[in-house]
Amino acid sequence: MALIVQKYGGTSVANPERIRNVASRVAKYRAQGDRIVVVVSAMSGVTDNLIKLAKEIMPLPSEREMDMLLATGEQTAIALTAIALHALGVDAVSLTGAQAGIVTDGVHTKAKIQNITPKQVHALLDAGKVVIVAGFQGQTPEGQITTLGRGGSDLTAIALAAALRADLCQIYTDVDGVYTADPRIVPGARKLNEISYDEMLELASLGAKVMQSRSVEFAKKFGVVFEVRSSLNDNPGTIVKEETQSMEGVVIRGVSLDKNQAKVTLVSVPDKPGVAARIFKALGDAAINVDMIVQNVSHGSGSPATDLSFTVDKPDLLKAAKVIEGLRNDVGCREVISDEKIGKLSIVGVGMRSHSGVAAKMFDTLAKEGINIGMISTSEIKISVVIDLAKGEQAMRAVHAAFLDK
Ligand code: ADP
Ligand code: ASP
Ligand code: MG
Repeated sequence: MALIVQKYGGTSVANPERIRNVASRVAKYRAQGDRIVVVVSAMSGVTDNLIKLAKEIMPLPSEREMDMLLATGEQTAIALTAIALHALGVDAVSLTGAQAGIVTDGVHTKAKIQNITPKQVHALLDAGKVVIVAGFQGQTPEGQITTLGRGGSDLTAIALAAALRADLCQIYTDVDGVYTADPRIVPGARKLNEISYDEMLELASLGAKVMQSRSVEFAKKFGVVFEVRSSLNDNPGTIVKEETQSMEGVVIRGVSLDKNQAKVTLVSVPDKPGVAARIFKALGDAAINVDMIVQNVSHGSGSPATDLSFTVDKPDLLKAAKVIEGLRNDVGCREVISDEKIGKLSIVGVGMRSHSGVAAKMFDTLAKEGINIGMISTSEIKISVVIDLAKGEQAMRAVHAAFLDK
């Protein structure tokens, strides 16, 4: 008898018919004798709507209250899923993240899981029930409700699979696996049969929202092999697992585009020791993740100054701008410019480690499309460039064609 964790995303529970469809799939596995833990997200659009509502009232709402608000989305979905299972005569019970024993730190809206004590889950499984757990949420040791960052139900599923030592972890979504690029943007994208944790992690952190990046990090750390597959058909999906030797043969595994970044530029900051440290410490203290950083060559001779640009997630832009404004007099910069119209295009593949000329080919492809590169960053297995948002999709298709079209 296998223990299976199945996660269903927002589109998979978007309406009563889809929820019934999820219930039938769960019932089918249950009928084979498997023990099943189901993790569900909020119905699609619900989280976005709740955020919109709050921001209509106030542009920077309290993060504690945001968690209180957003957690309701998943709570609705678990109860409806349990009801759909009852309608099929399957014994099922829903649990909030807190009831499932998910304990997090207190960083509201992007809390980290500290530990999971799934006592209730075990007891309910032992009693023969299907257990439905609310994704995306947890509770601090003091009992405050927290959420795990957008797309966080993936993390709930993977962390529960690790804590329960599940035999199988299946992530059901609206595509039948991980593709070489977002199939909605690149018609020629191909489904991958397997992908390494590192490649999936890079793709996910660089904009492929098919998996939340923190969930992949967690899976790698705890060795949770998982499958991404469709809730709408029975096609085999994509297995995400440790790298194998054969994976190195492929230079580029995928292309991703992150439209969710914004750039902040500090114009004319003093070019002297300690300035960058002050800026990035203040951002870090405000729990803002900074991604790319570019510092221009110094200008001026007496007291040299430089321009410093960095990127943050778009939802953090207001907060970042506020932090920088607070530092402005202290640090002494002339102007702060925010730019939301950027896209970050990346190519990813473990094979890059052993192949050369990859960056040149990417830059050449963009040049031929007349697309200017604003910032560049690389790692062993990825190359990212910041470009004009309006040209992002065109760039993605061109780069996919250069590296991945058959
Ligand atoms: P869920 O609600 O199930 O969590 P998401 O909307 O978060 O689903 O993620 C699935 C979506 O991810 C797909 O509809 C697809 O458009 C998008 N996506 C982006 N990049 C990729 C990729 N490389 N492979 C597959 N899907 C991708
Ligand atoms: N409902 C949350 C979100 O929209 C979590 C998730 O879908 O995984 O981000
Ligand atoms: Mg998702």
